[in-house]
Amino acid sequence: MSSLNDLASNPRVTVRDGRVIDARGECVVYRMRRAQRALDNPALETAIAVANLLERPLVVFFGVLRCHPTANLRHFTFMLEGLKETAEQVLLRRIGFVVKICGGTSSHQEFARFCHQVHPSVVICDEHPARRAAQWRQEAMLYSNAPLWSVDADVIVPSKLIDKEQFSARTIRPRLRARLGEFLIPVKQQSVRVPWKNHRAIESLPITSELADQLALDRSVGPASGFHGGTMAALTALHRFVKDRLPGYATNRNHPELAATSQLSPYLHFGQIGPHTVALAVRDSAAPVEDREAFLEQIIVRRELAVNFVRYNRNFRHLAGVEPWARATLQRHSGDKRPHLYSERQLTNAETHDALWNAAQRQMVAAGWMHSYMRMYWAKKILEWSPSGDEAYDLCVRLNDRYELDGRDPNGYAGIAWAIGGKHDRPWGPERPVYGTIRYMSFASTSRKFDYRAYIEKWSDS
Ligand SMILES: Cc1cc2nc3c(=O)[nH]c(=O)nc-3n(C[C@H](O)[C@H](O)[C@H](O)COP(=O)(O)OP(=O)(O)OC[C@H]3O[C@@H](n4cnc5c(N)ncnc54)[C@H](O)[C@@H]3O)c2cc1C
Repeated sequence: MSSLNDLASNPRVTVRDGRVIDARGECVVYRMRRAQRALDNPALETAIAVANLLERPLVVFFGVLRCHPTANLRHFTFMLEGLKETAEQVLLRRIGFVVKICGGTSSHQEFARFCHQVHPSVVICDEHPARRAAQWRQEAMLYSNAPLWSVDADVIVPSKLIDKEQFSARTIRPRLRARLGEFLIPVKQQSVRVPWKNHRAIESLPITSELADQLALDRSVGPASGFHGGTMAALTALHRFVKDRLPGYATNRNHPELAATSQLSPYLHFGQIGPHTVALAVRDSAAPVEDREAFLEQIIVRRELAVNFVRYNRNFRHLAGVEPWARATLQRHSGDKRPHLYSERQLTNAETHDALWNAAQRQMVAAGWMHSYMRMYWAKKILEWSPSGDEAYDLCVRLNDRYELDGRDPNGYAGIAWAIGGKHDRPWGPERPVYGTIRYMSFASTSRKFDYRAYIEKWSDS
């Protein structure tokens, strides 16, 4: 069995402050945020290993924000569906699960109160690529005497092992591939030695749909009826995909009308399924090798490139985060005449002259999910139809984060940066109005590649 030192020096773990583990502490706390699952969750498994070494019980804390700044009813419905199942699975493993509604827009105060009640020896969190070292330090100060560890549960190769911002898939790919033997392995599941008895009678809120009624939520964006949250639903979607659509994925994935991709992105975003579960199921399947490789390129290389972007680039939400060549070319073309300019309201309501774009926008608003190929076209046209690159970028982030169930995710920020700001891409000739040397997509070139009429028909207004 490994020691606490071994656990602390695991590349997936970052010790966030210099405090020593409090031997008088009464439990270990795992503050779950991004990795909302009981299955294949390295943060949960690290917390169990620490609790077992200290011979303490483990309790999971989950804080639901009363006033979330960006999530709406669509996101909360999906999240709570998943959280209910996760809580049940965690409790079955004799680990406590405490859910609290946290006032305001931060859960820190409520969590500090909770720590005060349960006296943890150590607090374990799951890693978040957007959180900077200073924020972690500030957070650590809140937790009584307990040290804070974060565990990277969100990616296959721990993101801190890629030590700086990567220029493109070409530069990150060999770095990731070199570590897959070490990290693309099943997550070992353990049992707790000391069950959580809740001797202090800490109350947890029941996770029901009524919980959402107690929140000050934006309710104008309703639940996405095609997606039910939770690890079981994610596993069902994964197994169907591997059986029916992975064979052929390499050629069919860019055909929006075929629905040929996994549609796992909402589950991955909320951590209801982890990348290990998905990548191993695909790697070990009987599908043709080119299909397996095409999928692993997306779930590992593209996804971890997006995490790398958010981790190292403070401006990931703005055009300022893209390469100088891209900002310069957009600046050079900032005065170009735009044949169409649409307001945010017109774009939101899919009121443009372009039926294909309108269909994509309607898919996002109604279904909470849009096909990858259409996301590219969608964002590039917003660049073409906005007064400036900066405004186009900010609008894309607002719409994407509001309507996509998988929005507010590193993949979304990297995708928008790619489409509008050439991030992870290169300059493309010939130089064009508005775009400059940013890669261009036209209705003609996009619609040639698939049965666009079927797609428009499916997402028509009627
Ligand atoms: C403008 C724009 C906005 C985007 N917004 C989001 C977003 O908000 N949330 C989001 O998760 N993805 C976003 N993407 C990336 C990508 O389009 C989606 O991840 C993908 O379409 C999700 O569908 P899927 O799960 O069926 O993908 P699959 O093809 O089945 O791929 C499996 C998984 O690989 C990852 N992946 C696939 N393509 C990419 C990519 N290009 N970059 C990074 N990871 C990828 C995702 O985690 C995905 O779930 C955006 C892309 C663009 C161009």
